[in-house]
Amino acid sequence: MYGRGMSAPITAPSSADLVHLRRCLTLAREALDDGDEPFGSLIVDESGDVRYADVNRVGGGDHTRHPEFAIARWAAENMAPQQRAAATVYTSGEHCPMCAAAHAWVGLGRIVYVASSQQLAAWREQWGLPPAPVLPLPVNAVAPDVPVSGPADELLDEIHDLHARSAGIAPPRME
Ligand SMILES: [Zn+2]
Repeated sequence: MYGRGMSAPITAPSSADLVHLRRCLTLAREALDDGDEPFGSLIVDESGDVRYADVNRVGGGDHTRHPEFAIARWAAENMAPQQRAAATVYTSGEHCPMCAAAHAWVGLGRIVYVASSQQLAAWREQWGLPPAPVLPLPVNAVAPDVPVSGPADELLDEIHDLHARSAGIAPPRME
């Protein structure tokens, strides 16, 4: 395994991963349509079954209502430690430090994301938005032993456009 400070190289999502990432984009779109931010995530067990999915729910004012955090807590309550370690969490946007910490604390396995935190931060900056209150650290800066895949280049346009819409930027165009 990879020790502290020696994170696994970040790999590209596989074609099987893209199926789950597309569902995360659908969830992100639903969240945006509901007045929340466009993030959606789900957890897949060792058998390949989607066990739980959630969306961003910060529209009510609680900015810790991230789907990746909800998934970590769901997994802690509903999956045995070995099942959690063998599970994969798919998400439209890379885990923030809060969610990466929760993911690691409950012993979950691989993370696969569409857009990285760095990409999202760069888009926000382009659009003149203030930076998020938490640094856009990569997952492995918080949780060095978690295997990570992303970004998914094939799906970046779509998530970029959802975030542009969320930011009130129109017409959204990738640069
Ligand atoms: Zn988060």
